[in-house]
Amino acid sequence: MFIDSHAHLEMKEFNADREEVINRAGREGVNFIITVGTNLKLSLKAVTLADKYENIYATVGVHPHDAAKTNQNTLDDLKNLVKTHKKIVAYGEIGLDFFRNISPQEKQLELFGLQLELAKELNLPVVIHDREAHRQSLEAVQASGVRSGVFHCFSGDYNMAKKCMDLGFYISIPGTVTFDKSKTIQDVAARVPLSSMLLETDAPYLTPVPHRGKRNEPSFIVHTAKKVAEIKKITWDEVARETSINAMNLFGIKTPASAG
Ligand SMILES: [Zn+2]
Repeated sequence: MFIDSHAHLEMKEFNADREEVINRAGREGVNFIITVGTNLKLSLKAVTLADKYENIYATVGVHPHDAAKTNQNTLDDLKNLVKTHKKIVAYGEIGLDFFRNISPQEKQLELFGLQLELAKELNLPVVIHDREAHRQSLEAVQASGVRSGVFHCFSGDYNMAKKCMDLGFYISIPGTVTFDKSKTIQDVAARVPLSSMLLETDAPYLTPVPHRGKRNEPSFIVHTAKKVAEIKKITWDEVARETSINAMNLFGIKTPASAG
């Protein structure tokens, strides 16, 4: 059993074969996929997918890249979406991207603060995007009082991971852990306990070895699980099982077996 805790099935990269990708994930043992909204339009598409497929759940939110294009109306629309759809299991991805700086940093910081408040009001865990903004991301989370969520596609060192875990957050390991030169994330995967870890593809991005260079998809999560198992010197089904339980706990997903 696997859960892909972060994919973007609503993106146009899957328009040609979305159904096939979803079915293939099921066949490869991916029980649930969290498809993650990055703006209002894509959040709506993510929710539509979750409504259509039993094994897909959605999140909604505005990515820091889109901060400059976002206003209170956008946030009101997202809030209404959450209130009218049961399969929205988290708020995000939200955060700070001081690497690409597509929106001005002040705008990103302002929107991040507003969305953390909104997530708290809606009582949802948050999915955080933090690129080259570790200190500022932690400060914003600390100030918000939000204590449930995940640092997606974790890109800090173990010190940073420790601070995130101390705030009650999960650390999500992406496919880049399979790259030979990714020593920092490999060290994080070695030292973060399984009980605080999620796995993700971030599909269509960050494709793991041996598919590197191709479009990523949820079924490839097995390669990330195998690499983490190799690093931790445990079996990959233990990695798959424990990280799946964590994702289900964070996102409030019940298996059909345990439901009712
Ligand atoms: Zn993402």
